[in-house]
Amino acid sequence: MTHSEELFARAQKLMPGGVNSPVRAFGSVGGTPRFMAGAKGAYLYDADGQEYVDLVCSWGPALLGHAHPAVLDAVHAAVDRGLSFGASTEDEGRLAQLVMDRVPAVERIRMVSTGTEATMTAIRLARGFTGRELVIKFAGCYHGHVDSLLAAAGSGLATLALPGSAGVTEATASQTLVLPYNDLAAVEAVFAAHPGRIAAVITEAAPANMGVVTPGEGFNAGLRRITEANGALLILDEVLTGFRTGWAGYWGLTGATEGWAPDLFTFGKVIGGGLPTAALGGRAEVMDHLAPLGPVYQAGTLSGNPVAMAAGVATLTHATADVYATVDARSLELSAALSSALDAEGVDHSIQRAGNLFSVAFGTSEAGVHNYDQAQAQEAHRYAPFFHSMLDSGVYLPPSVFEAWFLSAAHDDAAMERIASALPAAAKAAAAA
Ligand code: PMP
Repeated sequence: MTHSEELFARAQKLMPGGVNSPVRAFGSVGGTPRFMAGAKGAYLYDADGQEYVDLVCSWGPALLGHAHPAVLDAVHAAVDRGLSFGASTEDEGRLAQLVMDRVPAVERIRMVSTGTEATMTAIRLARGFTGRELVIKFAGCYHGHVDSLLAAAGSGLATLALPGSAGVTEATASQTLVLPYNDLAAVEAVFAAHPGRIAAVITEAAPANMGVVTPGEGFNAGLRRITEANGALLILDEVLTGFRTGWAGYWGLTGATEGWAPDLFTFGKVIGGGLPTAALGGRAEVMDHLAPLGPVYQAGTLSGNPVAMAAGVATLTHATADVYATVDARSLELSAALSSALDAEGVDHSIQRAGNLFSVAFGTSEAGVHNYDQAQAQEAHRYAPFFHSMLDSGVYLPPSVFEAWFLSAAHDDAAMERIASALPAAAKAAAAA
């Protein structure tokens, strides 16, 4: 028995499914989840001392690579000053300023602890600001485990093939209108059917929780146009893409050049550099509806936690243009290697891409994947043998076909070569499935 097997057996008696977040249980790929003991640069080390090239990067935060020395130094220094004060600190302003310097449409920001809190608060704020109740979300987009946003939510629900979550009341679910992604006509039609009742449209800046799906040309800009014309807010969820797909997130690749901005952004993952911090930000007029200035309540014991702020400040400070250039280049290199390994074995697939994020979808080359129906219709059964072959060769992929592959600036030539040499056997395994 491996140490991971022992730990998993014990964990299953202690935690539901042995985990604190569902996808970690390896449910859709089978086998024993690897319990991790450490991480450095591009590598993870499990409880049995096995080394893996990490293509999960903590689901996004580890943009600079694990345990980046400057981030660790900042965190160690913050720890020495005390763990939590329950009061304001200078570093909160530093992190806020770093975000605003990159994303000028963020005129005010509030730090929270998780992406879920950020989207939950953004929805409440949109309702409080507009005095309206309904919210539009897109099938396959995940915005955290907020009651009203769990319908057709991608991520772990896609992995477990769940339509939504038990425990969400009919009343709550009925206030969320779920539409197919990349379909502006459907958005127009729903606004026409519910005049004056829709508070907000929430969308992932680029969906990456049904696998990656590229927003169609003008899709996000179209959402901006339609929401504005109807007095509703646009919430751009950049929890996953923010400060990862580029200097100013996915908005920086699209809205910044197309000349539009959402009313609210949500951020998470990279902004906290691996510690629990997330944020919502946007137009001052909207954000100032939050308490203590306004009537929309939100608070958090550990919001703006000083250790997390230090990690965020250090991470954004070191996330230079060079870092993004490296991650962009590695992403192109890896997706090309993946595609040619699959081609060599005759495995039909498409590489789904949005900026430096990508994922693979099997059996989809003809129609591509532009929405959740198409993502779910793929030959998902090819992923488990592919995943396990890579794992056996020392490459740690996301344990679900519905997740993006994450790279970091620490993925050097040696790490890339290890991945490249693992691909042919994995492609063979996918072909045989
Ligand atoms: N929004 C998006 C786009 C996400 O990808 C996630 C998490 N994967 C969340 C929100 C929720 O963030 P958290 O897990 O920190 O609650």
